[in-house]
Amino acid sequence: MNLILLGPPGSGKGTQAEKISSDYDVPHISTGNILRHAIDQGTDLGLSAKKYMNEGKLVPDELVDEIVAERLSFLDCNRGFVLDGFPRDLTQAKALEGIRGIDTVFLVECPQQTLISRLSNRRECSSCGKIYHLLNNPPNREGFCDDCGNKLIQRADDQPQTIKKRLTTYEKETKPLIDYYGEERILVRLDGFQNPDTVYAEIKKYLP
Ligand code: ADP
Ligand code: ADP
Ligand code: ZN
Repeated sequence: MNLILLGPPGSGKGTQAEKISSDYDVPHISTGNILRHAIDQGTDLGLSAKKYMNEGKLVPDELVDEIVAERLSFLDCNRGFVLDGFPRDLTQAKALEGIRGIDTVFLVECPQQTLISRLSNRRECSSCGKIYHLLNNPPNREGFCDDCGNKLIQRADDQPQTIKKRLTTYEKETKPLIDYYGEERILVRLDGFQNPDTVYAEIKKYLP
């Protein structure tokens, strides 16, 4: 079960990836999470990636391709994986092709205004990464994670100017992947405007 979640920032890729990962016991691989972790740890990778991320640009392909190649070589990926936020351009898609085959690409789409509002209201757990929304999916205790009790934070790039830039980056660099994977081949188009459980029910129709 080798899956890709494709879609603009805020469409709900991370939310859906978590559901698939826990139900089907395959790792959720988010390049964004890996890069943010590297920044927190102050590694060389983190130092190189930070300025691109804060400007809403893609981190250079060489860096990201290497992270993913390494991650996919771990034993836990033998039965499959959910890639969230990778590939994000054609170069990455071609690099991936040399490593692992892909069964299904889920394209999650959503109107632009909704994306902006979702990203502005997104909060995530500083420890376990669980995703919340201040209005649609708030934590039980304001500011703290339901699962692990740690503090919720707002991502540095979930600010209006950076959100706009990320949406433009998606249009320019990532959207061509829709044709690359092709609706008549392995790409499945989903309406990400629906509530998360409805989106997930659609996804499950394509999973074993
Ligand atoms: P992405 O990984 O594509 O950037 P996320 O899964 O992080 O998207 O979701 C962005 C924000 O929108 C989060 O605050 C999340 O709680 C919320 N969200 C995700 N899916 C939905 C949905 N189907 N309906 C409403 N809000 C959603
Ligand atoms: P979102 O879920 O909101 O789309 P991500 O967490 O996937 O955001 O990505 C955050 C940032 O990390 C991106 O704006 C980009 O700078 C960087 N990034 C993540 N994945 C990739 C990738 N595959 N290629 C290049 N940059 C990436
Ligand atoms: Zn948590």
